[in-house]
Amino acid sequence: MHFEYLPDRLDGILEEAGKRDLDDQSILSEELKIEWEGRYQKGVSFRLALSRFPVVKTLETFDLSFQPSIAPRTIRELSGLSFIDRAENVIFLGPSGVGKTHRAISLGVKAVEAGYRVLFLSFEDFLGKLRKAHVEKKLEKTLTVLTLPKLLILDEIGYLPLSRDEASLFFRLLCRRYEKASLILTSNKSFLDWGEVFGDQTLATAILNRLLHYATTVNIKGESFRLKERRRSGLMESKTPVTKEDPPKDDETSE
Ligand code: ADP
Ligand code: MG
Repeated sequence: MHFEYLPDRLDGILEEAGKRDLDDQSILSEELKIEWEGRYQKGVSFRLALSRFPVVKTLETFDLSFQPSIAPRTIRELSGLSFIDRAENVIFLGPSGVGKTHRAISLGVKAVEAGYRVLFLSFEDFLGKLRKAHVEKKLEKTLTVLTLPKLLILDEIGYLPLSRDEASLFFRLLCRRYEKASLILTSNKSFLDWGEVFGDQTLATAILNRLLHYATTVNIKGESFRLKERRRSGLMESKTPVTKEDPPKDDETSE
């Protein structure tokens, strides 16, 4: 066995072992632990780079008290990642700034740490890839490559309407991954609006059927975190001024 991480740490381990009067077995187990941890971290860094997250966000930095619309049970279940083993999908819906991308990335990071292959793409980049592959007659290969990651995150579906051809390309990918690998999608559009997004009600229904057959949908309601931050930094007035004729609202403020 070739040790990659142990040699640099060996002197320190032996010195510590001398001080604590450790027996051979304990020293060996300490050495193997160092080597294993080094390899694990290398694997995580490698898979993180492959995942192409635009930024790294974690579940721990998400302020749940600010977003009480997400049920704690749903959060626990998703964080356990068993949805990936079951090849189920997760869809985060909600207005801009409520933390959809943050939640999606943080589940992706957790999956990477757990050893899964993950790929993050904005929906626009994803469509760009498929369109290019179609033109270059490499669609089959690209669809196969996009089916390999156990978790594919497609961010911001629905910001721009799709052409019928684009919607069918997306449908083909869904069919490939169906019951084999998980998708996380984020969208600012409710499912009722998906007919409009996909430009074709029949295709939108087929897409939703595949997508939602095994899926958890998380509707995030409430205020934009970006606006809250800006308000706190004093760059904005506090919420809409309250007058007698204008009772306070809890609705999302548009950006
Ligand atoms: P969305 O994708 O819904 O538009 P984002 O996930 O991009 O929103 O969130 C906007 C910014 O606010 C990001 O920097 C994100 O990390 C942060 N953010 C959103 N919600 C929370 C939260 N509940 N706790 C901590 N940070 C949050
Ligand atoms: Mg987003």
